[in-house]
Amino acid sequence: MSQWSSILGHQRILDVFEQAIDSGRMHHAYLLTGPPGIGKFTVAHAMAAVLNCTSRPDSFAPDCGQCSTCRRIEKLQHPDVLLVDPPKRQIVIDQIRDVQKACVSAPYEGRYRVVLINEAHAMTEEAANALLKTLEEPPDRTMLFVVTDQPHRLLETIISRCQRMRFGALDEQLVADALPRFLNSDDDDDDPPQFDQRLLNIAAGYGEGSLGRSLAMLESGMLEDREQFLSELFDVDPRSSVDWLDVAEKLGDSTEHLEQRIDVLTVFFRDLMLFKRAEPDRIVNADLRELIERRADDFSLDAIIATLEALMSARYRLRGHVSAQLLAEDLVDRLRRPNDRALDPPA
Ligand SMILES: [Zn+2]
Repeated sequence: MSQWSSILGHQRILDVFEQAIDSGRMHHAYLLTGPPGIGKFTVAHAMAAVLNCTSRPDSFAPDCGQCSTCRRIEKLQHPDVLLVDPPKRQIVIDQIRDVQKACVSAPYEGRYRVVLINEAHAMTEEAANALLKTLEEPPDRTMLFVVTDQPHRLLETIISRCQRMRFGALDEQLVADALPRFLNSDDDDDDPPQFDQRLLNIAAGYGEGSLGRSLAMLESGMLEDREQFLSELFDVDPRSSVDWLDVAEKLGDSTEHLEQRIDVLTVFFRDLMLFKRAEPDRIVNADLRELIERRADDFSLDAIIATLEALMSARYRLRGHVSAQLLAEDLVDRLRRPNDRALDPPA
């Protein structure tokens, strides 16, 4: 299957790449930025195929998806397509040195050597400085795609040497319609899981234009468990410290789960706000309308806004090395006494 033709959205960016190929004015390095899970790496990976596809004329054409080059690039098994991504938390200097060594010679068989640096913000300082050298003296017939959702963590000098492509959120309806294709794509199962349209729409609402986040929500099973999770949470007696500690312990039992639960809480509180502001049509948890109505009076608008800020801050801190348990305890303390803590700054 053609990688280029199956890209979801981002038409303006695809047009820029098409024109660059047509006019023979490809930049040697592109920086692809934007929220996680919206297809930045997918576009860079597809460009590697487009640039090298053996059946492409000199002008732009999508990769054919059939030739041996396309097939090997799709599996990242082509000698001229190099992937650099953080094996754990960091991209280290040896990984960049390997790229530099490869770039000394001409591409083995492709038109171009394509270097895909995914999660580029994870480069150590030494790795970033080494990459900068490569960007300052770009090797012949080599194209770099630097991909990140956190460009503020890159060296200014790296950013300025790349042509920047800013990816925006995808249209939620586009995501909702595309989800089934991605959910069942690598399932050889005769009986792939079926999701009803209502749940797909809710998942798209949760993802806020990120296909990756919508998929993760669906696959985690958290969407089906929303109602139970929220009801249990809000049914705890506000006076019982022991019960709330229990809730905190469950909430923070793993970083991954906490992230999804924070997402569920964030969307729920946003829905509460929409309900209080009499904008019920925009509610994402359309199927939890009754629960939203029932809980709306427990939280002042100030408390809702403060809780949303606390959730946002928790989500951000979760990306660092903060303990999930500590974050969970702070969140639970807010949920337990929402209106008292409305004026406290987020932790
Ligand atoms: Zn091809």
